[in-house]
Order: sequence, then structure tokens, then C-alpha cells
Amino acid sequence: MNRIDCELLDVECRLAGCRERFSLPEGVLYFDGNSLGALPRTTAASIGAAVGDEWGKGLIRSWLDAGWFHLSRRAGDAIAPLIGASEGEVAVADSTSVNIFKLAASLLRRRGGRRKAVAERGDFPTDVYILQGVVDLLGADCELALAEPGGIAEAIDGDTALVLASHVDYRTGALRDMERLTARCRALGAPIVWDLCHSAGAVPVELNRCKVDYAVGCTYKFLNGGPGAPAFVYVSGDAIGSFEPVVTGWFGHADQFRFEDRYRAADSINKLLAGSPPVLSLRAVLDGVACFDGVDMEELAAKSRRLSGLFIELADERLARHGLELASPRDPAGRGSQVSFRHPDAYAIARALIAGGLIPDFRDPDILRFGITPLYMRYVDVWDAVDAIDAAMSGGAWLDFRTDAREAVT
Ligand SMILES: *Cc1c(COP(=O)(O)O)cnc(C)c1O
Repeated sequence: MNRIDCELLDVECRLAGCRERFSLPEGVLYFDGNSLGALPRTTAASIGAAVGDEWGKGLIRSWLDAGWFHLSRRAGDAIAPLIGASEGEVAVADSTSVNIFKLAASLLRRRGGRRKAVAERGDFPTDVYILQGVVDLLGADCELALAEPGGIAEAIDGDTALVLASHVDYRTGALRDMERLTARCRALGAPIVWDLCHSAGAVPVELNRCKVDYAVGCTYKFLNGGPGAPAFVYVSGDAIGSFEPVVTGWFGHADQFRFEDRYRAADSINKLLAGSPPVLSLRAVLDGVACFDGVDMEELAAKSRRLSGLFIELADERLARHGLELASPRDPAGRGSQVSFRHPDAYAIARALIAGGLIPDFRDPDILRFGITPLYMRYVDVWDAVDAIDAAMSGGAWLDFRTDAREAVT
């Protein structure tokens, strides 16, 4: 394998043209689209029109005339086919953290004598923190049970009232078997909330086929919705009828503009809505999701696996000797859309690479993570990235960053 082979793979790639849907800066190798997706070409104009015309000229009339009221549902319906959901099962609102709260609080409130909320140690911090907060709110007969890494399935039993699990591990990229774990939860009578932050938009997600009832996920990662874009929340058509909202805001009311004295929940996914939606951010979500138009998710995921497989193959040849130890699964079927390595100086290496124009990220304590974004990443980008890491490690460029004080965000 050499650089020309990679160029050929790009020429042959049927998805190569999707890169044109994005505005990418020159001279940057971007491997962090799993933290913040790239900017779609259409986003700036959409937001410009929403500000200049809809807000500037339409003023409050735009809630109806420009469809602002329906943006949460429109964006949800646009995301639905990417995650194997049906129309009407997804809404876009609030953050992933807040949506976890909404689901967990409602499901745990109906725990029917069961005590445990199960998550896995080392899962994304906010997920565990939110669950902790809900458990504390509910009182003494409810507790957080943290399973050891890899042990979540065994930790679920007849005393489990709720399970919260990430589809893809944010550190290693390990992909969980959604169908199997969901079936186990169902058999034991425990609802499971799936966090799709690191899978939606890059890995095939089949919520309906896997009989998933509850899920959440970010739109600013693989879905390219922009910094701080609101998250999506999914409740299946089967589960929505009996879902009792805990965050009972007016946007989730059965008849919002009757201004009734008491809350009555809408009889749709709207009951997951709370307050006024972030209209400008929702416009950007629509642009981000539109980048997937005409893209087959299986084909996209196959490209992701080929890109990450190439990364691993080249890393075996050129990076192992620098002490970079693969932390992601070698089996492509068990891998999400990223390649992670362990190195005791991962932070300094990440800093050095960023200074040189290759953007990965660092995850405490020792993970160097490269996000694979098959919609706009080329095979040559993978080649060039490995080349840049090899050069930085060989030349010792990273050593200069070893004593750097850690910045708040990497
Ligand atoms: C990125 C990510 C989040 C982020 O949650 P926010 O509320 O948007 O800050 C949550 N969970 C997982 C698994 C993530 O990867």
C-alpha cells in the first residue's frame, strides 16, 4: 500500500463526491468529525436566510410562516431514516444530557419496586452524571449500579429498573451489539436507553429492527449540525403511548395554545419537547442531515470500516514502533467509526499533531483518538495522517509538548 494506491481508492469510491457537500479548510487533516462535524456548504446561507428574512422581516409571524414551530419534528423526521426509526418517532430538542434526564427520570419513576439504574464505568461522563442525579432525586430505594467495563450485560437482572448504554464506546470505538443487549433487557423486563452520539451518521443503526424503545444522540458530531446543536431523542411508536414526561413544558402540551391551567401531555413524540426550540441551530441541523441525501448507510459504514482498516494496517507498519498501541477493536464488525491508540504521552502527541495541521483528539488518560468521517474523508487523508504521525514521532516534535499545561479542551 502506498499513497498512489490510496488515491486510486478515492477515484473508485462511489461516495467520494459527498466531500463536495462540505466546506473544509485547506491544509488541515481533520480527524475530529466525531467531536464536531465539518461545516456543510449550505449552512451559512440557511442561517443567513433564517436571520435576515425569517427573523428580520417575518418577525414573530415566522413561527408559523417559516415553520419554526415544526422544526424540532422536521429535523427528527430527517434523522429517523439514518437511525432506522420511523416518521414521528424522533424529535430534536435540548442537549443529549438533558434528553437522558428526560428519559431516565420518567422510566425510573415507574420502577415498580426495582432498585437499580445500570450503566458502565468509563462510559461518557455526562451519561453517568445525569443518571446519578436522577437516582439521587428519586431517593433511597433507587441506586446507581456501575458495571465494570465490558460487564454491562451481566450486571442486568430482575432488580434492574433502567439500563443506559452507549452504542459506540467514545474512547476505544468498540461497537456494542444493540440487538442482543436490547433483547436481554427486554427478557429481564428492564428498559434500555441507547446513546447513539458516536454511531448516528457513521454506523448502521437499526432502532426499529432491534426493537429499541428509547434512544438519544448528538447532532453536532457525525451529523454535522454545528457547535452546540440540539440533540435528538427517540421513543418508539410502541412505547410513546405509555411514556409519562417528567419535564412537562408547554411545547409538550396536548394543546399548547389553549394556555390551560394544567399540563396534559401530547399524544406523540412532542411530549419529549419542553420549551422554545433553538431555531437557528435547528436550521443548521437540517443542513447537516441533508448531507446524507441519497447516501446508503450500509455503503457509508462500509467505507468507514475500510478507512479505519487502512488506518490500522498502516499504523501496524509505521506507528507501532513509536509505542502507539491500538486501543480499538481489530475486528471491523466490532468497531465504530474511529481508531484509537494508547500512549502514555498521548496528550503531548495530540498537541504536536494539531500544531502540524493534523487534528485528532485526546481522551483522558492516554487515548489518542482519530475520528473517521466517511462522508468527507478520503483514503489519502488516512495515508497523510499516518505519515504525519510517523514524522512527528520520528522527529521528536511531540517532546516539546510534554511539559505543556493541559488546556481545558482538546
Ligand atoms: C458527545 C457525547 C455526549 C454529549 O452530551 P451533550 O449533552 O451534548 O454535551 C453525551 N454522551 C455521549 C456518549 C457522547 O459521546
